Amino acid sequence: MSHQEDCIFCKIVNKEIPAAIIYEDEETMAFVDIAQVTKGHTLLIPKSHEENIFELKASTAATLFQVAPKVANALKAAFSPLGMNLVNNNGKAASQEVFHYHLHLIPRYGEEDGFKYHWTNN
Ligand code: 5GP
Repeated sequence: MSHQEDCIFCKIVNKEIPAAIIYEDEETMAFVDIAQVTKGHTLLIPKSHEENIFELKASTAATLFQVAPKVANALKAAFSPLGMNLVNNNGKAASQEVFHYHLHLIPRYGEEDGFKYHWTNN
């Protein structure tokens, strides 16, 4: 499995730094975003270090999207959101800050849920 020494998400995968992990299997991991934009904001990642969509293997994408509905439904059950955004930034110009592929799962609670992120430009 690909691993990069200075990658913060690889360090979370290897339990070198702590995270609030809500799901884990051999190939994927989901943990709470350190700066939640809404209640329950979660990141789903492959354990393998693949930078972004331009590097992502089709098999990794397939594995990740097998898990995504499970995590989405667990968040739905836990927080009762009205909806959920799945967001994925690829490349610096597209607001990617951590260069280890990740999906943001952002529960939405209606107009007053405080959702604001730098990629929305507001
Ligand atoms: P990006 O802009 O790359 O799509 O999003 C990276 C996300 O990773 C941001 O929402 C940021 O809050 C989150 N993040 C960065 N460092 C850490 C960390 O050490 N732990 C956790 N749990 N989330 C992080």
